[in-house]
Amino acid sequence: MSLIKSVEELFTKHYGGTAKVVSFAPGRVEFIGNHTDYNQGPVIGAAINMGVSVALQRCEQTVFRFTSGLYPTVEVTDSSKQLVGKDSWVNYPLGVYNALLSRGLKPSGGFEMSIDSDLPHGSGLSSSAALELASAVALSKAYELDLSNEELALVGREAENNFVGVPCGILDQGVSACGKKGELVHIDCSTNSFSNIKLGEGYSIWIFNTHKKHSLVDSMYEKRHDECFEAAKELGVGYLADLTVAAFDSGKSKLSPDVAKRAEHVVYEIDRVNKVQELLLGADSCVKDVGALLFQSHRSSRDLFENSVPELDYLVDILESMPAVLGARLTGGGFGGAAMALTENTFTKVYAESVSSAYRGMFGEEPKVIHCWASDGARLIRS
Ligand code: ADP
Ligand code: MG
Repeated sequence: MSLIKSVEELFTKHYGGTAKVVSFAPGRVEFIGNHTDYNQGPVIGAAINMGVSVALQRCEQTVFRFTSGLYPTVEVTDSSKQLVGKDSWVNYPLGVYNALLSRGLKPSGGFEMSIDSDLPHGSGLSSSAALELASAVALSKAYELDLSNEELALVGREAENNFVGVPCGILDQGVSACGKKGELVHIDCSTNSFSNIKLGEGYSIWIFNTHKKHSLVDSMYEKRHDECFEAAKELGVGYLADLTVAAFDSGKSKLSPDVAKRAEHVVYEIDRVNKVQELLLGADSCVKDVGALLFQSHRSSRDLFENSVPELDYLVDILESMPAVLGARLTGGGFGGAAMALTENTFTKVYAESVSSAYRGMFGEEPKVIHCWASDGARLIRS
């Protein structure tokens, strides 16, 4: 059954009748730009062909009902209060409703919402941003707000930062909001400006999720974050994105060895993101050269930022030896998680299975494999 049909049926089953508004928002892949966002650099992502769908109907009573294919129905009467414990998943759509209040939403009565998803669970494809953006599109339509997708991305981030309490950057929501079929989304994190870059439709993205997570992942992120800001301070700038490669190279001897490595990764990664953008915007875009930059990005994460793990290095090494693979790298925060590969469409499931079985030979279990491609961003399905 299609996702849209299933979210509509869920609505009818729980609330009766047919929902007035149905929306969809995709998950995303970090294409290149590893740990560049909080250093105020650029990052490039791709919206994918899987995501979250929302069906919605306003009601006269001041009551807000949420039901999901994953969780039982939750009913709240005070929309301004965060939920805790098992019902806290409701904070994502409720946070969006609250963020829309400051953008002109006039509260009157309540609403009923059903949610369903075809994003593989726990695969780092940003189901939270997809849920926020699908909610934002549906609520904007139901309450007759006229907001751009860029604005909806900020709404989603505000919900996640302030209502859910996760201090994420703008990548997830920006890409889910602004994706386009066959195109990537470039985000300048210093200005929150978004643009699309044509990749072409002859390419696929394959995700190999190890489902491994370093037990100290949160403190490792924090340490890397602090090392980046220490480097910027030592080099006399607010953020590492304020440095050119040349300025960094001439100043790096001032830094302690570990801090220098972290900063070198970020400064050169920003340069790689810029090069990917230039290559794809160029007259004869050369996706092979883009792939080479993806491999370089991985080596830099592995050797300089030191946020890779042997499982991800192994996947990237095998992928590099396969036909039709243009580039591969770890994607997301690192210290476990997933690797992605950019491939020609001639890379098939059979190739992916040979990567998985080699991985199993080495690590005893298979990674979760997901085949996806650059797709359209958050949108209204019907109203
Ligand atoms: P990611 O965004 O990488 O998938 P997060 O931890 O940021 O992981 O977000 C996952 C959370 O988003 C889930 O724990 C749940 O609270 C919420 N969520 C995602 N998809 C759904 C869904 N289909 N129904 C209800 N809640 C969902
Ligand atoms: Mg998330």
